[in-house]
Formats: sequence, structure tokens, C-alpha cells
Amino acid sequence: MLSARLISSLVVHRNISDADLRRRGVSASSRASMDSDVAELQRQGELAGLEVWAIDDGHLLYADPAHPDAEAAMPADELVRARQGVFTQVTPEDRHVLTIDVFLPYDPGEDGVPDAVVEVLLPRDPINDAIGRSTRLLYAGAAVVAVLAALILGAARRRQRATYHAARHDGLTGLGNRSLLAERAESLLARPSSDGRVALVVLDLDGFKEVNDTLGHHAGDDLLVAVAERLQAACRGTNTVIRLGGDEFAVLLPGLPTPDSAVATAHTLRVALRRPVVVSGLAVEVDASFGVAVAPEHGTDLTSLLRSADVAMYDAKRASSGVTLYDPRTDPREAQQLTLLGELRRAIGAGQLRLHYQPQCGTDGRVDQVEALIRWQHPERGLLAPDAFIPLAERTSLIKPLTTWVLGEAARQCATWRAADHQLCVAVNISLRNLVDDELPAAVLNAAAAADLPVSSIHLEITETAVMLDPQRAAQTLTQLRAMGVSVSIDDFGVGYTSLSYLSTLPVHTLKIDRRFVSNLLTNDSDLVIVRNVIQLAHDLGMVSLAEGVESPDVWSRLTDLGCDEIQGYLLTPPLPPDQLIAWMTDWHNTSTPPTRTHDPSRSGAAVNGAAVPTVHRRRSDIDVVPSAHGAP
Ligand code: C2E
Ligand code: CA
Ligand code: CA
Repeated sequence: MLSARLISSLVVHRNISDADLRRRGVSASSRASMDSDVAELQRQGELAGLEVWAIDDGHLLYADPAHPDAEAAMPADELVRARQGVFTQVTPEDRHVLTIDVFLPYDPGEDGVPDAVVEVLLPRDPINDAIGRSTRLLYAGAAVVAVLAALILGAARRRQRATYHAARHDGLTGLGNRSLLAERAESLLARPSSDGRVALVVLDLDGFKEVNDTLGHHAGDDLLVAVAERLQAACRGTNTVIRLGGDEFAVLLPGLPTPDSAVATAHTLRVALRRPVVVSGLAVEVDASFGVAVAPEHGTDLTSLLRSADVAMYDAKRASSGVTLYDPRTDPREAQQLTLLGELRRAIGAGQLRLHYQPQCGTDGRVDQVEALIRWQHPERGLLAPDAFIPLAERTSLIKPLTTWVLGEAARQCATWRAADHQLCVAVNISLRNLVDDELPAAVLNAAAAADLPVSSIHLEITETAVMLDPQRAAQTLTQLRAMGVSVSIDDFGVGYTSLSYLSTLPVHTLKIDRRFVSNLLTNDSDLVIVRNVIQLAHDLGMVSLAEGVESPDVWSRLTDLGCDEIQGYLLTPPLPPDQLIAWMTDWHNTSTPPTRTHDPSRSGAAVNGAAVPTVHRRRSDIDVVPSAHGAP
């Protein structure tokens, strides 16, 4: 009996929606299914009737077919009592049937404000009631039923709400998850954009894996929670912050006037994030790479916006730029880029790729190594610089055959020079995908063996950012290469925030100071400080320092004073085709006058940080690289 009465209340919840009540009427389909539920309960003798009234003016919204004579409006006194909560009353239905009417407030929108009153008419046997039960007991029994009904309904709703919440939120951080993102994005993107654009920002923490690996998963979790709190605090109420999984987050931003304002918001979020977090008693630096995509320019549905923001985020990581707006020119999915990829794939076999070589020289002016830099002799577009196709190749597995080609060609060219008595080494640029590829060491060995070149004549340049994206794999590969006798430099050093303790464990030969710091060395004090410190760091760790992008004798002279071991740049020469290199070298060795030190570097070092820069003049040959017979693993 009790469950039947509960079901009779649930009939309304199943059939009459919030929308029905907002329309101030019950749709024909809702009415039909109500009618059939009620009829079934009436057949079982569980229900005498059911009526629903609007709570504001008491007008009748629904009466079951057995009560066609229901009043058009609820009596005023009943309406007043119904608004105050559940109540019951006993009504003689007809001569034989006595009903207990239970009035329940009904709040389908669950905003705490009921929209309707449900009147459940429960049948009572008048004879049984007459014997042995007082009217008071009857009232009490009905009230208990009503209260239980309300409790069970409340618990069901709370359970429903908890399930709803859990399905749309991340357990660790309490942020929304992908399901919530899908729901919010769908409703925002479906609306016409009169109130501005919708943007999606995807961000991925830098160096999170390192925290997890060195401080443990609890510390990693604490860091993620702190990041979630900072993002949430930095966002407006209309923004939705999501944890996509792992150390990847997303923020959905509605109502933006321009794509630039989305980028500006991403910068604000980054500033909010970039304060150390204390985890496991240690202050950990926090930073992230942000990719921004804007609707409708970069996608009109969530899937395409997410992909575009992801491409932009990868660009930001690669360039260590912090925040990047999606650019279709770097997207391998774009038709134009797909065409270019196809052409590049064929170009490798068709002999359209070239290597130019840029010399690297020591303080004595001697050149003993050149860097191989790729160009593409495109049949229609002329000679293309690497920036026009390398970033694209790096996003696909095409970078692997491309690097294999560069290694083979550079080794062949180097062997040719050595056969002509020019004892040069060759440096080849390696991408992140090569670094995490198990086949790289074998590819280097094969290239050397095919050219009959000692493998130690091949040097690899790996950017600091690539190393930091997967430090563990990088360390493994670098150790393997070192064991083979291949030396490695960290390229573009200074932009990637490598942790110093980590750097000291890597088998690295040279730190290549990024061009950005070198070019303004004479005019920008903070660049000077960075260059000075990187040189000292290299020496402290037993490495060689090399400054790239040297364009003037004054900069070379200053670098020499600072103790820098080697330089590369337009001052010597821009990268040259192989047939011009030897002529250039002969000329250079006959005419160049390397600067001599005019300055005691120990004094300049002390001025910066109290530590002296050691007066070392290292050359490549001074550093131990375990030699191995070429071709042997
Ligand atoms: P990178 O490894 O930093 O190479 C140095 C770049 O700086 C070269 O540009 C070089 O021409 C340029 N450069 C050298 N001296 C100066 C100077 O004094 N001033 C200025 N402003 N620039 C100077 P390039 O050849 O256009 O190469 C650009 C980038 O493309 C390289 O940067 C490297 O990251 C990538 N790259 C080049 N060849 C390869 C390759 O074979 N494989 C891979 N994975 N990447 C390559
Ligand atoms: Ca390089
Ligand atoms: Ca570089």
C-alpha cells in the first residue's frame, strides 16, 4: 500500500516536466501517459484519483479521467495550506468510498521553489476505518505516508543529483570533466553568437612528469589540485574550467569580442598559474603551455575546437612561447598542409632536399665542426627554409625518414671532406620524435657505417624544450648515444627552464646559448646576465659553451671576455652549400683575427653572482667522449 502511494506520487515526476509547467499546461503526450499510469493504479485499487494544480493561482493543470468534474481552481484555503507544505485531509468520495487526500508541493526544476501542488487521492475502506481506527490515527497514518513519500522522493532526487554531478566532474580536483565540457560547449555553440565568440583554451603543465617521478604521485596530485584552484580563481563565473585528464586542462570562454581577447585571457591565466606551489615541503615552479582556438574561425563544434586548441598548445610547447593562437598554417590536418606533406614525402626520394653547413669556431678561430641545416629545393616554390616545412614534418612521423636522410647525407658529406684532409665533425638537428624513437641510435650508426665515417664525427643537437618534454626517454637515448661515442649539445639553451639538478645528470657535451640572448648581449643587461651564467653553468658541469647567432666582432669579443668557448653566426658566414664551404674555410683561416681577452672574467663573474667564471678554453676534443670503433654498437 505504502509503495503504491509512493508510485502514485512518482507518476507525476515521470510525466509532467518543468517545461509543461512553464507552459502552464500539460502537453497532450504527457497527459496521455499520466492517464495510463493513473488508470493502472486505479485498476489495482491503489489510487482513487490524481490532480495537479498550479501553485501560484491554483488553476487546475491535470485531473485524471475518473474525475472529469474536478474544479477549475483549487479552493483558496487549500492552496494557502499547500503552499506551506505537505498536508492531508479526509474526503468522502461517494457513499462507499472514503479518500485521504495528500497534498504535496511539486518542484520539478529542483530550485527549491515548488511550481505545483499534487493532490493524491488514496482510497480507504470506510467499513474498516469505522471499526477500530479513530480519525486521528487516520490523519497520522496519512501524514506519515506523505512525509515518507517526500523523504524517499528527496533521497531519490539527491541520489540523482549526486550521480549527475559525479558523471560531469573530476574526482581529484572537483573541476568539470569532458562530459560537462561537451554539455556546456554544445549549448554555447548552438546559440547564435550575438553576445560574442566562444573560445577554448587547452593547457598542459610543463615538467609535470618530473614532479610525479621525483616527488611521487601524492605530490603530483597536490600540484594538480593547486593548479585547479588557481585556474578557477582566475576565471569569471561564465567560464567553465575542465580537467581533460592527466595534467591537461581546458577553459571554455563565452562572450569574447575578438580572438585576441581570448589570447589575452590565456595570458592572464598563465600569470595566475606561474607562482611556485609548495608540495611535499618543496616549492615547485609551475608553468604551462596554452593553446587557444576560437569559434567559428577554428572550429564550429567541440571536436574540431579541441583539436585546433591542441595543435596550438603543441606549437606553444615547441616554441616555449607560453600562449599560442591556433594557426592553420601549422596544422597537418589542413588541406594545404596535407598537400605539402605529400610533396615533402616525395621530395626525400626525389633528391629535392639539400643540406647547407654553418661553421662553428673556437676562441682560436679554428673551425672543427659544421652544423647541417636543411633546405628544400621545391620545384615550384624555390629554395625553402626549414621553418616552412620542419615544424609540419615534426607533427607527423615524416620527421623520421627526413632525419634519417639528413644523417645519411651529412655523414656522406663529412666523409668526403675528411678524405680531402679537412678534419671536420658534423652536427645534425634532432627532433623530439627522433629522441623518443628507439631507432635513433641505430640510424646514427648506420649513417656513419654507410659513409665509412667514425661515428664520433657525428654530433647531435637537441633542443632544450624537446629534452624537457620527455626527460626520462631523453636521458635513456642520450646515454645510449654517449656510449656509442656520439656527443650531444642542448640547442636553444636558456628558453626551456631545465632544472639544474636534472641537467647535471644528462650526458651532454655542449650548451648552445640561444640566439635570442646572444644578439642583444651588448645592449640588454638581463641578456648579458643570462649568457654569463650559462657559460659558467656549462663549465661547472664540465661542458662546452657555444653562442649561436653571433653577428658582430664586438659580440664575439664580449663573449670571449665572458669565457665562451665557441661561436656560430653570420659574423663567420650564413649556412653555405657544401661546395662553397672549403673555399670559405681556407679564406677564414688565412684572414680571421680572433679577439683576445681584454677582461678578467673572474671579476665580471663576481659582479653578477659572487662566483668566478673559470678561465678555461675548451675545445670539442678536450671533453671525454667514449670513442668506439665506427659502425660498432
Ligand atoms: P637552429 O638549430 O637554431 O639553427 C640555427 C638557425 O639560425 C639557422 O636557421 C641559421 O641559419 C640561423 N642563424 C645562424 N647564424 C645566425 C645569425 O647570426 N643570426 C641569425 N639571425 N640567424 C642565424 P635555419 O637554417 O633557417 O634553421 C632554422 C631551424 O630549423 C633550426 O634552428 C633548426 O631548429 C631547424 N632545422 C634546420 N635543419 C634541420 C634538420 O635537418 N632537422 C631538424 N629537425 N631541424 C632542422
Ligand atoms: Ca641547431
Ligand atoms: Ca639553435
